Amino acid sequence: MGFNLLTICYLIGSITFILGLKMLSNPATARKGNLIAATGMVIAIAGTIFLYEQGGKKLHNYTWIFLGLAIGTLIGTLAAKKVKMTAMPEMVSLFNGMGGACAALISLVEFNHISKSLEPQTLDISAIQPTVLIIVLGLIIGSVSFAGSMIAWGKLNGKLKDFSFTGQNILNLLILAVALSAGAYLVYNPAQHFLLYSILILALVYGVLFVMPIGGADMPVVISLLNSFTGVAAACGGFLYDNKVMLTGGILVGAAGTLLTILMCKAMNRSLQNVLIGSFGGNKTGAVLTNGKDQGSYKEISLADAAMVMSYAKKVMVVPGYGLAVAQAQHVCHELEKILLDKGVEVKYAIHPVAGRMPGHMNVLLAEADVSYDNLLEMEQANDEFKTCDVVLILGANDVVNPAAKNDPTSPIYGMPILEVEQAKTVIVNKRSMKPGYAGIENDLFFQPKTSMLFGDAKKVLQDLCAEVKIV
Ligand code: NDP
Repeated sequence: MGFNLLTICYLIGSITFILGLKMLSNPATARKGNLIAATGMVIAIAGTIFLYEQGGKKLHNYTWIFLGLAIGTLIGTLAAKKVKMTAMPEMVSLFNGMGGACAALISLVEFNHISKSLEPQTLDISAIQPTVLIIVLGLIIGSVSFAGSMIAWGKLNGKLKDFSFTGQNILNLLILAVALSAGAYLVYNPAQHFLLYSILILALVYGVLFVMPIGGADMPVVISLLNSFTGVAAACGGFLYDNKVMLTGGILVGAAGTLLTILMCKAMNRSLQNVLIGSFGGNKTGAVLTNGKDQGSYKEISLADAAMVMSYAKKVMVVPGYGLAVAQAQHVCHELEKILLDKGVEVKYAIHPVAGRMPGHMNVLLAEADVSYDNLLEMEQANDEFKTCDVVLILGANDVVNPAAKNDPTSPIYGMPILEVEQAKTVIVNKRSMKPGYAGIENDLFFQPKTSMLFGDAKKVLQDLCAEVKIV
């Protein structure tokens, strides 16, 4: 009875993970999808705690289990409540690292269990070799994911800087090769306990060195890749315990992380290899890359003129970027949209896949302000529509509208698809200064004849614009 009920719990868990993941792919259903998957996880955990039996015995150690659950729940809830939207990638990477650490710990604990059966008289090595293989894989992948995620977390919150040296990639490959060889030898001869800890150390060092040189702007791709590693490491745990829900969950995370990594590379038009050994976005020296060109001069527009141009436009396309998120100006942006709509102006939003600091950042931000999903255009659609726009209003976006990605083969962002805003009749750019965006490079768009700069904090500028547009 217990076993059957537990199997049903695991089945519910697996189904809700798949449903939840499917629903996460659309902003309209994402919140519900998250809740459904979380409910499935609660059912799977509760089932394991109360129904799992081994040799007719249920789990004990309830005090430890519930203490751990309470501490984890408290930390997770507080962190999720407190985190700013712009710091979300940091939190994802921290939580992902914890997943990797769990997978590695499972491997350590289970190897100790197995090694007890390795007394010479009970030795049947071939029977335990498949288990040791899974343990070794879980240990290596989990440790790399843990160490790499911790470095990614440190880099995203600015505590760690990029670090690389000549020959680092070769050294990395060497460390990985030694860790894998040691792993293979341990599978062949599981009695060599000490190898387990050597593998752990090598995998941790590899995780650190692997992420250290990667440029800041590539961190989301790396986090997504590490996320897929954690999924695979968790799936190893599922094999180890013959636990279907852990296996399903791990495979889903592994597959989703891999797909997201591929999609993000495509969105930036770069190969994974280029992301991992290039150093795009690593220019954090404060120097602006201009490739020695004289940028010429830019012109400014007053609030009143900007309000006038927009009020008499037929169609306005808003391009949101990181600055809009920092200013928390999404609500007042929606307010401006409504005022313009009342004046008969069509307003749409052009969403670049890597605008902001995490995948889907702009969708989440605008959804928070109740902007209709129907008005959000993906990059390809938006690029088709810019030529029909009278005004493009860029709010705190920079790299995602930088024409150097198309025109300048020497630019670090060359090849990244961008929003081709210069096809519109007029371009108004709101930002606080002429400082560069995340990639640290100058933007030619700001110096083009049809571009006007509207300086100021996005929220303040939008509030003032709302007031001005109302009186036009
Ligand atoms: P950028 O970082 O290129 O530019 C943001 C601009 O916003 C800055 O130039 C800044 O200029 C301006 N800004 C900052 N604060 C404010 C404010 N309060 N009010 C108005 N403007 C403000 O952002 P984009 O969204 O264009 O591009 C995203 C970049 O981040 C890309 O390079 C992408 O690869 C990278 N990235 C993307 C991730 C993702 O998954 N989405 C994750 C990590 C990096 P100023 O200081 O003058 O105001």
